[in-house]
Amino acid sequence: MIERWRIRRALQHQVGQLHKLVTRQLPLTVTPLLGLTIDADDVAIARRWLQNRTEWTCDDVVTAYHRAFAAWNGSRHAYAFMGGRVALSGCLHAIDPAPGDEIVVPGYSCVVVQNAVKYAGLKAVPCDIELDTYGLDVSSVEAAITPRTKAIVLQHLFGLVCRDYEQVLDLAQRRGIAVIEDCAHSTGAEYRGIKVGNRGTLGFYSSEQSKMFTTVQGGMAVTNDDRIAARLEEYWRRAPRPSDTFIEDLLFNVPFQYYTLKHWGRLVTADMADVLYGHHVLESTSLEENAGRKPATYGARMPSAVAALGVNQLRKIDAYIERRRQTARTWDAWCDAHGYKRATVVEGSSPVYLRYPVLVEPQLKEDREWARQELGIDLGVWFLGTNHPVPGVPENCPRAAEAVARCVNFPSLLS
Ligand SMILES: *Cc1c(COP(=O)(O)O)cnc(C)c1O
Repeated sequence: MIERWRIRRALQHQVGQLHKLVTRQLPLTVTPLLGLTIDADDVAIARRWLQNRTEWTCDDVVTAYHRAFAAWNGSRHAYAFMGGRVALSGCLHAIDPAPGDEIVVPGYSCVVVQNAVKYAGLKAVPCDIELDTYGLDVSSVEAAITPRTKAIVLQHLFGLVCRDYEQVLDLAQRRGIAVIEDCAHSTGAEYRGIKVGNRGTLGFYSSEQSKMFTTVQGGMAVTNDDRIAARLEEYWRRAPRPSDTFIEDLLFNVPFQYYTLKHWGRLVTADMADVLYGHHVLESTSLEENAGRKPATYGARMPSAVAALGVNQLRKIDAYIERRRQTARTWDAWCDAHGYKRATVVEGSSPVYLRYPVLVEPQLKEDREWARQELGIDLGVWFLGTNHPVPGVPENCPRAAEAVARCVNFPSLLS
């Protein structure tokens, strides 16, 4: 389905680019923040699955993906869903909470985290972060705990291992509270040789298009506790499959993203991809979710057609992590040269740098053009509020408020 307005828009854009080229205005393209681990081999896989619809209902590849992820991550059990947020919903089911139980969540995260808590009939209690690694501040966690606290969602942001990791785990253990590690940004990061997500009761990961590896949308929940795993598996078995239309749209997003964000000729191929695949583009978080309502399609498990992309992405993730670490050294040097504080590496940790976060002046965060002009990159603004992308911060989280005002993030895969 080719839409005429997309052709018109593409032509107008090409004319604009030609004009820029002639008048030597820079930059023509910038390094984007999304989809950067998608390569031609992923496009080939998406095309193959689009042609083989008879295999869409078979679960073999999903099971293989569970095994491959568990092995790579050093976890006993892994289950794949259509989103890190759904994996978190599975984790919340697995800890068997009573209605109205409280879950301590970071006062600086995505709206989907608090939503998952809400959808489960539980109460999200925000607590403040620290500004070294944007993880939970252990004293704020302690202050947020009540007799009804069932779990703490402990996050590792931007690919960094959070500063108070050990302290929060110890605190939770002393109080008999579960820990769910939000590793949506930090798939592959290690602390003392163990990948994050394995020390808490459960951990979850995201393969959404802006994360460490991508299946356009997707997520994984892991645990090393067999009893918890049984409940997680129960949630997974009951989860519906996504519709064929959704699977088709998702698969078309793979060539779309490749030709828009990654291909060397994307100055031209991006507009072609928009004309051909633009109508398939999926949004990560709907307006409904921003408003805290549960979409009718929420809660699906991952089908084989998507898991096949995950298996291929896992094969490449270590090489991408290496590249991200190298880029981080460049941003370290940029920080030193410009008088900003480098991203903190907690002793004993190996971060994976999904993005390179820097605290800058609020005016610099508001003005996104400087990074395009001076560095040739798209500037990330995670997070725009406690409940990104919804603006606003809770009253008791001054450091979260400061991060909202001052934290920008640089891409770690430069193209
Ligand atoms: C992206 C993200 C999630 C949710 O992952 P999805 O796959 O998008 O559902 C959870 N927590 C954080 C911190 C995230 O950035």
